[in-house]
Amino acid sequence: MSGRTPILALPQDVAERIAAGEVIERPVSVIKELVENALDAGAHEIRVEIRGGGLRLIRVTDDGYGIPEDELERACARHTTSKISVVEDLSRLHTLGFRGEALASIAAVSELTLLSRPIETELLGEEHAAAWLTLRGGELTQHGRRARLHGTTVTVRDLFYNVPARLKFMRGARTETGHILQLLRRYAVGYPGVRFNLTIEEHTALQTSGTGDTATTLAELYHLPLAEMLHPIARIATEHYVLHGYIGNRALAQNSRQHMMLFINGRWVQSRPLQDALEAGYRGLLPKGKHPLLVMHVELPTEEVDVNIHPAKTEVRLEREAEVATALTQVVSSVLGSSPALPASMQFPGPELVSQRRLPGARRRGLHVAESAQGYPPGAAIPATAEVLTTLRPLAQLQQAVILAETPDGSLYLIDQHRAHERVIYEHLRRTYTGVQEDVVADSYLLLEPVVVELKRHEAELFEQRLPMLRGLGLECERFGGRSFLIRSVPSGVGQEQLAGHLSELAEIAAEDSNDWEDRLLIGLGCRSALRRGRDLGIDEQRALITALAGVSAPAVCPHGSPILLHYSRTFLIDKFDW
Ligand code: ADP
Ligand code: MG
Repeated sequence: MSGRTPILALPQDVAERIAAGEVIERPVSVIKELVENALDAGAHEIRVEIRGGGLRLIRVTDDGYGIPEDELERACARHTTSKISVVEDLSRLHTLGFRGEALASIAAVSELTLLSRPIETELLGEEHAAAWLTLRGGELTQHGRRARLHGTTVTVRDLFYNVPARLKFMRGARTETGHILQLLRRYAVGYPGVRFNLTIEEHTALQTSGTGDTATTLAELYHLPLAEMLHPIARIATEHYVLHGYIGNRALAQNSRQHMMLFINGRWVQSRPLQDALEAGYRGLLPKGKHPLLVMHVELPTEEVDVNIHPAKTEVRLEREAEVATALTQVVSSVLGSSPALPASMQFPGPELVSQRRLPGARRRGLHVAESAQGYPPGAAIPATAEVLTTLRPLAQLQQAVILAETPDGSLYLIDQHRAHERVIYEHLRRTYTGVQEDVVADSYLLLEPVVVELKRHEAELFEQRLPMLRGLGLECERFGGRSFLIRSVPSGVGQEQLAGHLSELAEIAAEDSNDWEDRLLIGLGCRSALRRGRDLGIDEQRALITALAGVSAPAVCPHGSPILLHYSRTFLIDKFDW
């Protein structure tokens, strides 16, 4: 049974605590409320139909637990709900809805028909048919009974017939249809176990099979073999939160943030700080102005999430926002940092572009021969963990730039020697950087001939202030009169000879007026002292570099965000050679 409680009017004190504001601002808000009601009712299948940008008709049909006949009218009254009853419930919400206003608000500006059959009547036989009622402008006009399986259908006609907003939306029907498609896509991704179907002007615009698998749902929505471009984030649970989802690689970079889908306790939310945090995890990996495609679920104790701040319920206030933000950045950067790039032939342009013309064969490609793939979707990039890297056997060097190496099971890795070394040095410097600590002196290498660098006036001032921090890095510098500085030592563990020629460029980074100058300096040090391309490497040197790479936290991307590893899985070879 559903475990549903009756629909009742909210007591005055609770109604007063509900954040004020208009729930139904536009056609897409009607659909949002109706879909949320269907999800709250435990639906497994939700069908949405729209005509005329939603102004002529919106119909949402579900197979949820339904509404008893004697509660239909109450469901459409203001501040009536089955979801909360006392003030304390606001801080322990387990449903998407709780305000008890949506049906009333929709009914006030349209002709609304509510047809429902509660799940429990199905045991009683056909004579207990579904009941329906129609309200126009909020007034009851008709009611009756008809046959139907359990569940609810809400039909909204002539939306905004009695308000000026109608005119505005009549002109923008196409825009509104776009918003509706986007909304359905989000719910379909957030609830992969529910079958969604959207028809626009009688054409199917979206359909999912409700298999429960997010990657499959994404592939259905975008018509792409996305598994290859998605990195799964397995359930990460701490005392305070649980995270899980999928993050797209850079081949999936998009022009807007529309495809970053963040859910908190199952609710799609818009949160600038958390979206920023997710993107921060991609630092350096996405071209400027591009945004990732990702699905991230955050589960938090309900009392730490305040949803009651905006009528649309898409903004939330989190008690531990900063902590969650840090965790999101970390999880994204560590997953991307250990995911090798895939061969170019396995990458596709952005989903927006492709979904419009439906890639032929995309489905077939999404169904690779299953690999022993340790629980990763077939064809997905297997994270280059330390375990994988330590098993690599170097085979040869290509163009004095790329190491070829094989795994015991016969897949091939291509390793960019310069970037690999850059990553190794960068992480070494980060680990040994002591910051400003009086007694601790970072390991450094004394230059036989100190190097003089000259800076611009404003740079010289900042550089002077930062001398203690530079010392913590192993860069011993001192003022040499005017705007000149003497650099006496460089950090140990970097290629000193090679670095000497780049010290003035690095000093300029160390004098930058930016928040991330320290990191940029470490990146610069790594880049300027790393093995160059064009250097011959013997097999032992190749092996040593691979071993060093196995010891870093993000072996797949260089500090600038470019790929270090290319992975040709055994499956890929089998597929391409048609073995
Ligand atoms: P809320 O969702 O905030 O409770 P609504 O006005 O959206 O308020 O709905 C009022 C009530 O009607 C809900 O609390 C629920 O009991 C019932 N209801 C609405 N839609 C459905 C549905 N699709 N299936 C079952 N019950 C529903
Ligand atoms: Mg509701």
